[in-house]
Parts: sequence; C-alpha cells; structure tokens
Amino acid sequence: MKIQAFAIRDGKEFRLSNYSTDDTLHFSESDEQAVEEEMRENITEIEKLQDRLYAENRHAVLLVIQAMDAAGKDGTIKHVASGLNPQGCQVSCFKAPSATEIDHDFLWRIEREVPQRGNIGIFNRSHYEEVLVVKVHDLPSKEMLPDDCLKGDFWERRYRQINDYERYLYENGIVPVKIFLHLSKKEQKKRILARIDDPEKNWKFSASDLEERKLWDKYQDAFEEMIQNTSTEYAPWYVVPADKKWFARAVVSEILLDTLRKIDPKYPELPKEQAELLQHYRETLAKD
Ligand code: ATP
Ligand code: MG
Repeated sequence: MKIQAFAIRDGKEFRLSNYSTDDTLHFSESDEQAVEEEMRENITEIEKLQDRLYAENRHAVLLVIQAMDAAGKDGTIKHVASGLNPQGCQVSCFKAPSATEIDHDFLWRIEREVPQRGNIGIFNRSHYEEVLVVKVHDLPSKEMLPDDCLKGDFWERRYRQINDYERYLYENGIVPVKIFLHLSKKEQKKRILARIDDPEKNWKFSASDLEERKLWDKYQDAFEEMIQNTSTEYAPWYVVPADKKWFARAVVSEILLDTLRKIDPKYPELPKEQAELLQHYRETLAKD
C-alpha cells in the first residue's frame, strides 16, 4: 500500500483541504475484505518485528494518534495492536490534565509514558492536545505559566518545543510517528448518531462531543497549523483518510510496519566466547 502519499515530512506547503477524508487509493468498497487481509498480513509481520525490537532492546516506537471525536482512535488501536505481544507494548490515553499535571510543564506527563527501549508505545491523544484543544479553547492562561511565557508568539514557541522534544526522543532511539485520522464532518455526525441510537455504543456518547463539534472549523484550522509546524523528517505526520474504518486501520498498520522495517531491529548475537560454549552446554544438558 502506498502510504507515502499520506506522509508529511515538511509542512510548509501543507493544506488540509488538499487531503480527502474518504480516499481509499485504488481500492473500492468491494476490496474491503482484501484490504482487511492485507492488514492481517501486516500485523503478522509487525509481530515478528516487535519480537526483534524487544530482543534488541535499543529502539522504541512512539505511535501518536490524534483526531476529532469519533474518528476511530480506539478502534484503530484495537485492530493495529491486536497482534502485539502485550509485554512489549503499552497504550496511554491523555485526558484533560489533572491538578497535579497542570502544576508541571506540559511534557511532564508525556515523558512518563514514553515507551522504554524495545517497546511500542501508542498514545491515544498526546502532547498535541496542547496545540489543539488548548488552542481552540484558549486555555494557556489556565496552565499556571508565568506571564512572560504567555507573551508574543506563544504557539510558535510551543510548536518549536514539541519539535525539539521529538528530536530529542529520536536522537535517543525513540522513533516518533504521528497519525492524524482525518474524518469528515458528515461522517462524524453519522458516528455520533450511532452512539446515541445503538445501546451498545451509548457508553461512548458524551455531550461534550456535540460541544466540540460546534467548533469544527477552529479544530480543522488547529490541525492544519499543527501539521504545518510539526512535520519533520524524524517525526512525520501521516494524514490518514478516516471515513472508511477498514481503510484507515489498514493504512495505520502499514505505517507501523514501515516504521519497524526502517528500524530493522536484529536479534542480538551472542559474544563469540559464549557462542563457542553453546555446544558444550548442549552436551551437558543432553547428559542430564
Ligand atoms: P472518543 O474519541 O471515543 O470520544 P476521547 O479520546 O475523546 O474518546 P474523552 O474522555 O471523551 O476521550 O476525552 C478526553 C478529553 O480530554 C478530550 O476532549 C481532550 O481534548 C481532552 N484533553 C486531552 N488533553 C488535554 C489537555 N492537555 N488540555 C485540555 N484538555 C485535554
Ligand atoms: Mg470524546
């Protein structure tokens, strides 16, 4: 699957309006099963690479997922992480910060959830909320920052801080890869209605989803500006069309696979002296 069409490594020219929410590349609805099969194959390969990542214990992958409400973050994580060894994987959800979190710099709670070497960490929302909901609702004044820190080009600085932080992670072996599930307003309405109408989905419904929906355009602007300012070689954004769940999930699995392939983790080789002793150990055990 040609996922590079969705990758942004330099956001200067990025316009969200150039990206469709219902693109499925050359696949049509009738290919849904074939695409699902492709996703399963990806997951099988991801499992193998995860095993090597864990054994090598040098790199980590940080998969960040951002989107409007009901864009399918949870479902995507459920599918893409389905084959992962739980021992080498962690999912972190970031909600509105607690009083303790507000009393720290905004990356404090993020840093505590960054995956350890050998692991795949998935962020369901992330530090990017700090340039999304915080921007749309003009919340910086509630973040206990000194006045000096609020002056001038606050958002420019925040983007820079995020870029600096992600570069720091990358240069220390933690590879960030960022997914924006790009949903249409129409499809969001359909999914929120399903949460209202389907008793099994009622628990997912939140009146705040309707409040945030009223701010749709402001959110879209914030997403666009976020991608313009925080797309880098070392931590690219992928704008994944999310109106078709089957397609979005397959694309995200491909992105994770591609990231792991590039890391190309290797099983550690035993030091020569130990490798030479293996035959000896085998014989000892055989005599046991
Ligand atoms: P769903 O997509 O299924 O609705 P969710 O991820 O929206 O799930 P919720 O508990 O509904 O989960 O929402 C979490 C809320 O926390 C979001 O509205 C999000 O914007 C908010 N949030 C996350 N980080 C911050 C932050 N740094 N400052 C303020 N609000 C935040
Ligand atoms: Mg929500």
